[in-house]
Amino acid sequence: MNIHEYQAKELFEKFGVPTPKGDVANTAEEARKIAESFDSNLYAVKSQVHAGGRGKGTFKNGYQGGVQIVKTAAEVEEAAKNMIGEVLVTHQTGEEGKLVSKVMVADAVEIEKEYYLSILMDREHSCPVIVASTEGGMNIEDVAEETPELIHKEVIHPLAGLQAYEVRKLCKKLGLSGGTAKAFAKTLKSLMKLFIECDCDMVEINPLVTTPDGEVMALDAKFSFDDNALYRHPEIQALHDPSEEDPREVEAAKYDLNYIGLDGNIACLVNGAGLAMSTMDIIKHSGGEPANFLDVGGGATQEQVANAFKIICSDPNVKGILVNIFGGIMDCDVIAKGIVAASKEVNLEVPLVVRLEGNNVAAGKETLANSDVDLIAADDLADAAKKAVAAIS
Ligand code: GDP
Ligand code: MN
Repeated sequence: MNIHEYQAKELFEKFGVPTPKGDVANTAEEARKIAESFDSNLYAVKSQVHAGGRGKGTFKNGYQGGVQIVKTAAEVEEAAKNMIGEVLVTHQTGEEGKLVSKVMVADAVEIEKEYYLSILMDREHSCPVIVASTEGGMNIEDVAEETPELIHKEVIHPLAGLQAYEVRKLCKKLGLSGGTAKAFAKTLKSLMKLFIECDCDMVEINPLVTTPDGEVMALDAKFSFDDNALYRHPEIQALHDPSEEDPREVEAAKYDLNYIGLDGNIACLVNGAGLAMSTMDIIKHSGGEPANFLDVGGGATQEQVANAFKIICSDPNVKGILVNIFGGIMDCDVIAKGIVAASKEVNLEVPLVVRLEGNNVAAGKETLANSDVDLIAADDLADAAKKAVAAIS
């Protein structure tokens, strides 16, 4: 799960990671009032969306920059007016962009130098890894590609935790000394504590800045939490913003379905993650593009199958459906009954290819044959994929 920058700011404050003061606004007028209450002479107005690259982003209304640095409260209002209710496109949003419904107004600090700092759970080492660079404010993937020697990593022992020598090593690599190094060390320790206590997968600060008076501050925050640990953190779970997610995935999560939305037009309904992935592969191999990954699982109920079917039918990009079931634990008849139940509620307007095999397959085929569901039967996986691709071309 990801959260917004203004929400991350509250976590930073709680754990002692220094960050400029700021608040969130739902309207341009609110934005101006926040600015007035700060009594500053430089403000940052920042679009709140779950995507990076906002600074260099462009709104569909032509307005340039999802992050604006301005001097007066009137300019804050003006910037917020151009952002709220508008769609921002960045290199991370895809061309459809993201709707901005809130902005954060922050006291803009004077930047001496921008750094990059993140902590992430590294699967290779099964440990938290700190990643730091002097090349802050840039797209870190580009830095990694072009100047990998400027990216410094420190693997942290999960039980021993962050050690003073590791912090010193990073300070040296980043060229920090004196008071700034001390401030950085304090910030990094606080960030590490936050990372562990909140069960984060990743915290990324880009940029972490030094100011002319030797302070260190986090000017941006991207968080991602381990979904499997969220049950331990109801206060973090409460920060969830479903409007930032694929609506198909939000709906699927309600029914405990393993669903991931994709860009293609052939929807798949499969039992088992491995079979679901092979189904997507074979669709591609046959010249098609999958619209989703969907594993209804081995123990799916008729109701779950029906809801899964409704989700894929409601996707306007879907031009055809491929149901691929190899019933081991799964009873083919449960799938068939789910499809029949769902098709009574949705108007099935696209071709449906069904391949059923395994446990109780005869009953499943009979259920489908006795219904008025219009389908194309397939014998095996390759046949099913070919028929699905042919049906939509
Ligand atoms: P991102 O583009 O989505 O990563 O958004 P950021 O929060 O990183 O903002 C983009 C850029 O705006 C940063 O790299 C900074 O250079 C600048 N910026 C953001 N906040 C401030 C601030 O408080 N003061 C100043 N001077 N610049 C800021
Ligand atoms: Mn950033």
